[in-house]
Amino acid sequence: NIVFVAREITDGETRVAASAETVKKMKSFGFDVVVEAGAGAASRIPDGEFEAAGARIGSFTDAAAADVVLKVRRPSLSELSGYKNGAAVIAIMDPYGNDEAIAALAGAGLSAFAMELMPRITRAQSMDVLSSQANLAGYQAVIEAAAVYDRAMPMMMTAAGTVPAAKVFVMGAGVAGLQAIATARRLGAAVSATDVRPAAREQVASLGAKFIAVEDDEFKAAETAGGYAKEMSADYQAKQAALVAEHIAKQDIVITTALIPGRPAPRLVSRAMLSSMKPGAVAVDLAVERGGNIEGVVAGEVADVEGVCVIGFANMPGRVAASASALYAKNLVTFLETMVNKESRSVVVNLDDELVRATMLTYAGDVVHPAFGGVKK
Ligand code: NAD
Repeated sequence: NIVFVAREITDGETRVAASAETVKKMKSFGFDVVVEAGAGAASRIPDGEFEAAGARIGSFTDAAAADVVLKVRRPSLSELSGYKNGAAVIAIMDPYGNDEAIAALAGAGLSAFAMELMPRITRAQSMDVLSSQANLAGYQAVIEAAAVYDRAMPMMMTAAGTVPAAKVFVMGAGVAGLQAIATARRLGAAVSATDVRPAAREQVASLGAKFIAVEDDEFKAAETAGGYAKEMSADYQAKQAALVAEHIAKQDIVITTALIPGRPAPRLVSRAMLSSMKPGAVAVDLAVERGGNIEGVVAGEVADVEGVCVIGFANMPGRVAASASALYAKNLVTFLETMVNKESRSVVVNLDDELVRATMLTYAGDVVHPAFGGVKK
């Protein structure tokens, strides 16, 4: 089999879907690996490094011969028209609300796998791109905030006076939020956090942060069987907003990470809340690509909203691209390995495997994922 590692063409996408380590791994499966020239440049992986690992450096036209295409983002129409009928394409497909794009993948006869739909089970932990990327996003959010916060983060007691510790409030204590808490703590900030899932309380506390939440009956039932949050009722949201409004006025930095699978991000911070914050306050919205948790956030930009510096960078993991690519590439190759037939040294898709069932959007010309209108084969 031939594996093609694409150069990303989406604006601002700095990551790449392979590393020297994963190229070696794919060679060990018996595959030929072709890396599109320059694919790793923005992740600090020169072509020579891929070559030294056993890949051939090629161009987009090489995709036409590939049995497997590895990407970060879903291929555009022009990209997928260059792929071979029957090829497997593995990427972050962003499938929700993109039915037409899914239909196009089916129409091109591709077996498209959406890595973000990987089930969060023990067996698939090493293939969990949401975790590997969110973890870095949470870290980077704090670094970005610290860079524009015109004060020091830790408490400093000096002969010239005392600098108080920054107060950091993290909203949404999932993978990204927990790493944001840990990073802010390492920088010496006084950290508090909130979530709607009861399990978050202990995790927040174990990182040395204060947990703040409306802990009513709805909160006690807010976690789904899959470990995700539910969309909360209007009544709960109002109670949460009142609690947040009071707390946020005392904060220096707010980092929001709240998401609900398949739904727009919940709106957690209003303009009024922002205007109650101190001069020089900073907010980072990691949910911006799903509509944002903060009112007034501008996707892809740093904006002044009610006197607060609101950072709305899309693709936060892409701002730590070298680390993000290394982990993403490892997630992909681990998943690919589950589909390698050792005898034939080729990819054989087992339609009954639960990882395939969870992630496969299209197969043999059809949309097959039930969450996107497909009928399982
Ligand atoms: P996510 O990205 O879907 O959401 C981020 C956080 O926002 C979540 O903690 C969610 O509860 C929170 N949130 C949603 N609505 C909110 C609101 N209105 N107010 C405040 N917070 C809100 O979540 P995630 O980071 O992907 O993690 C989800 C869960 O999955 C966590 O429990 C995590 O520990 C778990 N997980 C399990 C595995 C595994 O077992 N393999 C791997 C990764 C994560």
